[in-house]
This record gives sequence, structure tokens and C-alpha cells, in this order.
Amino acid sequence: MTTGPGGPGERGARRTTPGPPAPADQHLPLAQWTSPQACGGPLLIVPVGSLEQHGPHLPLDTDSAVATAVATAAAALLTTGGESVAVAPVVAYGASGEHQDFAGTVSIGRAALTALLVEIGRSAGTWAARMVFVNGHGGNAAALRDAVRLLRAESRDASWVPAGVPGADAHAGHVETSIMLHLRPGSVDMTRAVCGTTTAIEQLLPALRESGVRAVSPTGILGDPRGADAAQGARLCDRIADDVTDRIRRGTIDDDGLLVIQTRTLAALPQARRVPSGSL
Ligand SMILES: [Zn+2]
Repeated sequence: MTTGPGGPGERGARRTTPGPPAPADQHLPLAQWTSPQACGGPLLIVPVGSLEQHGPHLPLDTDSAVATAVATAAAALLTTGGESVAVAPVVAYGASGEHQDFAGTVSIGRAALTALLVEIGRSAGTWAARMVFVNGHGGNAAALRDAVRLLRAESRDASWVPAGVPGADAHAGHVETSIMLHLRPGSVDMTRAVCGTTTAIEQLLPALRESGVRAVSPTGILGDPRGADAAQGARLCDRIADDVTDRIRRGTIDDDGLLVIQTRTLAALPQARRVPSGSL
């Protein structure tokens, strides 16, 4: 999960994300397209997740599930506006070294993830008019920045956005648990949801970078998932999808390749909030 800069206010559960696909959404997955359909130069949205511990109560693919749901919801909104949009299969492995002390975690590291994203961009960039990576895991941020910078230096229209909520607890806490209760309630075991470390992520980062998540949280949870709620998860999902859609529609690309909305991200936010590198 990532915490991104800016974001629209919560607007209530007017949609649920993703829910059963509406007929108009069913053509969004790239894997279901035919080659001729891709000739028109669509926008390609690529969800980027991870396979890493999310405490004793959430599945390993939580970040991938969230990134995919947000990418699909954003694509549906953009398609409604007339754009041709496809959603690529999720990049299911990420840079999760800080979680490696927990069984189940499979991390490919920054260098391999960067190379993977670059090659996806180079290949898809031969037919897609534009590519946007939607990131579900904060630890992927450095690889996304490096990959998108290189793709852009090669004159490809690539950028990235975080699938996150400003101010959210960092990992397997209230926000991620609520969203997963909405997306895939059968994958969540609330009987095992316990309060983790609630110290602000900024204070934890030095120890995290030095020794990994287990050093600061024996359960792997950074936050408090007790009281997580599916209805709130639906609202959060819609809010994140709205933010991603807004950035894709009218965002500008900063030096990190990140799509930002200038009016709300420059003077309004402290430096530490501008780049979503702090959460996990
Ligand atoms: Zn996560």
C-alpha cells in the first residue's frame, strides 16, 4: 500500500470497487483483447503490486489486489469519458526486501523490478499511445521512478501514480484491511487481526531500512486493523480510483515520472508528502 500526495475528498459510496463487472467494463483487461483491437493506440494501465506478508490476517497479494482494483475502476471511468483503455495483467512481484523476514514474501528487488517495468514499457510502447503504472506497494517507488525516467528519456509516454490514501496507516492496518474486506472478504481473517505498531512511519523508517519490518513489528502490521470495515473500504477504493483518474486526465509529470495535480501538490503539502516513499 502506498500513501500518495494529494487526493480528492471522500465522496461517499456512490460506487463500489470493483464489484461485479458492468458490461462496459468487461473489455478492459488487456489479456482479453485481440491484437487488432490494440492497433488503435490505447492508454495502457499497468497495475504494480507485490507478494509480501500483510500480517496474520491479510493475504500475500493484498497490494496486487488493490492495485488491480484501482486500475480497473480508473479505466472504467476513463472509458466512460471516451478513451480507449486497457488494463494489463498485474505485475505480481515487487521490491519487498523489508518484509523478507516473514515467510511467504517473494521479492524480486529494485533492480529486477526496474528492468521488468522498462521492458514492459518498451514492448507495450510499440502500440500503446500512453502507459500509466498504478503502484500498490510503497517499496516499489524507487524502481518505478527509475523505470519511468528511462522510458521517458527514450521518448515513451510513461508515468506512474500511487494507489494510496494520504495519511493512511502504513501496512496491513485499517485502510488495507478495510479495502480487502470490500474487495475479497473471503481472503481476510479478522479473528487474527491484531493491533500492530502504530508509531508514525516517518519515525520507523530508519530502523525499517536498517533491519526490516520485523524489527519494529513482530506481527508485520504497521497500524491497527481492528475495526476495519468493508463499507469504508468501498469508499476508500472509490476515492483512490477518483484520484488516479484525475491524475491521468489532467496531471502533469514531475521529475520522478509521477503524475501530480499541480494546484494541490506544490505549495500545499510539506516536502515529505510529495513523494510517496514512506509507506510500505
Ligand atoms: Zn500492502
